[in-house]
Amino acid sequence: MTSADARAQLRELCYLRPADAATLGRELGGAGGPLAAEGWLHVALAEVRSGPTDQSDEALERARRGFEARGDRTGLAWCDEVRAIALRRRGDYSASAQLQTQLDERSGIEREPLYRFVAHNSRAITHKLNGQCDDALRHFYAAHEAAAESGLDGPRITALGNLGGFHQDLFNLDDAHRLSEEALAAARRCGLRQVVTVAGANLVFVRHAMGDAAGARAMAGFLLDHPEETLPDLERTFPLPLALGHLASGEVETALRFLSAGAVAGIADGDGQCDWAWIKARCLLAQGNAWGARELIEHTLKQRAERQLAERPYPSMQMRQALAEACEHLGDHRAALGWQREAHDLYVHLVGRSARARFIALEVSHQLASTQRERDRAVMDHRAVEDDRRRLVELNAALQSKITETEQLHQALREQALHDPLTGLHNRRYLYEAGPGLLELAHRQQRIACVALLDLDHFKLLNDTYGHQAGDQVLRRFATLLKQTMRRSDILCRYGGEEFVAVMPEIDADGAQAVLARLLEALQTLPPEPGRRRVPNGSFSAGIAVFPRHGNTLEKLLHRADKALYTAKHQGRARIEQVPATGFGTLA
Ligand code: GH3
Ligand code: MG
Ligand code: MG
Repeated sequence: MTSADARAQLRELCYLRPADAATLGRELGGAGGPLAAEGWLHVALAEVRSGPTDQSDEALERARRGFEARGDRTGLAWCDEVRAIALRRRGDYSASAQLQTQLDERSGIEREPLYRFVAHNSRAITHKLNGQCDDALRHFYAAHEAAAESGLDGPRITALGNLGGFHQDLFNLDDAHRLSEEALAAARRCGLRQVVTVAGANLVFVRHAMGDAAGARAMAGFLLDHPEETLPDLERTFPLPLALGHLASGEVETALRFLSAGAVAGIADGDGQCDWAWIKARCLLAQGNAWGARELIEHTLKQRAERQLAERPYPSMQMRQALAEACEHLGDHRAALGWQREAHDLYVHLVGRSARARFIALEVSHQLASTQRERDRAVMDHRAVEDDRRRLVELNAALQSKITETEQLHQALREQALHDPLTGLHNRRYLYEAGPGLLELAHRQQRIACVALLDLDHFKLLNDTYGHQAGDQVLRRFATLLKQTMRRSDILCRYGGEEFVAVMPEIDADGAQAVLARLLEALQTLPPEPGRRRVPNGSFSAGIAVFPRHGNTLEKLLHRADKALYTAKHQGRARIEQVPATGFGTLA
């Protein structure tokens, strides 16, 4: 083998089959020829990525001495890149980041594609661990581009898998799905078992999160049916995706079996604990064991809080949703509502993250990389100036349309975050964004306004009698009626479960009372929806507070309206109460 061949082989193997790269590297290093330093470097690179955290030190030292002896600055920079990875793996993130910054400033280094891949990938992971998501994502993309330029399969597949996994962390499910599928297909072609397994496992979670139960089950089935393509001992080392895939298709017993067979060590208090808990709670709920599910999640949350372990938002949301459902089953509606609200807040947070990730993905793919390069090329190439000019115009147009698309996407996600998906009304978050402004305006114009809190009567009974879906139907019909009855300038929102809030500018208490009385009558006389079972529309009770007489902030007004609502309930329901006159001349 010529030394050029050996060098090519080292590079080919280093991310594809690190163990073989290390063997070859050791041979070359031991032979002491012109590739000795490079050989030791690849031993260190393989070891730093998979071995115990201090294993790479010796090989790295040998490589460094070799490069130093011949004054090879690029080789020495490689050594420091590997050292930065080792520092990070030992948990010393700040020393690792510091060394990387220093490396970025170093001159006289040949930064060829494979070097740039390793450098960007490593910076991405350091940023990710430091919680700097935008920087991490940009480096993952740069690593991906460098890997593609290198023409080497190992780096390309590693980059795809990392990008897919990170988009998943950021809840950008579409990109996560596309990239992980690409990674899986490429890894299968090259026999990269580690990536096949991890990408497959990620895809089970992504598909489940996208609501694709059959797809999640199919992916779990694929992992189980192809032991020759995945890492060994899957049931013990990757029990969560296997359990989730089976749970998704209703195979609860099997899911539970995977959960109990899994290696508890890695899951015990690591990141996996939350995933383990919500998947198990979902299994228990499916078996009708709401009590067990509640106990499990509450215990997990308590334990993590005591040990001050951080929670990732997605499993946190899932845990709270399962807990809300368990509380609901157990009849503890107050707790259920509380957990559901926390879950909803986490969802809004995740949607924001996702929008940001999508934005960066578009920005990176369209703006930074290709357009910039093509522009530079177009300017420099004198032979086809006219062609290039036209192309430049096209590229600019494409870029512009992508930017517009991104802005629209941003807007759409924001809209989603401010609406209640069931009824299409605004949600509580919107109320707190828009309500204070409306009151401020009323204050400046010295006008009055009313805040009404509406609560459907005996709604739990309706759910219990006709089922949750019928309950949802009634909520939607009521929301439609509400929109038809109120003015366009009113703020209407679903405040929670079966509670609604209306903020009505320029109307006094009697006026508001009349409007709500009309609404109540309309609801009670609305013919029941035709269908197999005729579900009654029921009635509601409401409390009205007046701005500024009963308070000068939204919170105070809601509080007073709630008291009046309580009175309405107490006096028999299907009625509307105003905040009573205090009788003592005190101003609220
Ligand atoms: P009251 O007349 O005193 O208001 O009695 P209620 O039964 O309406 O009040 P309670 O607060 O006990 O029950 C509210 C019920 O609303 C409990 C919960 O199951 C149900 N609920 C909350 N959100 C939804 C939803 O999105 N869909 C359906 N179908 N029911 C919901
Ligand atoms: Mg209620
Ligand atoms: Mg009610």
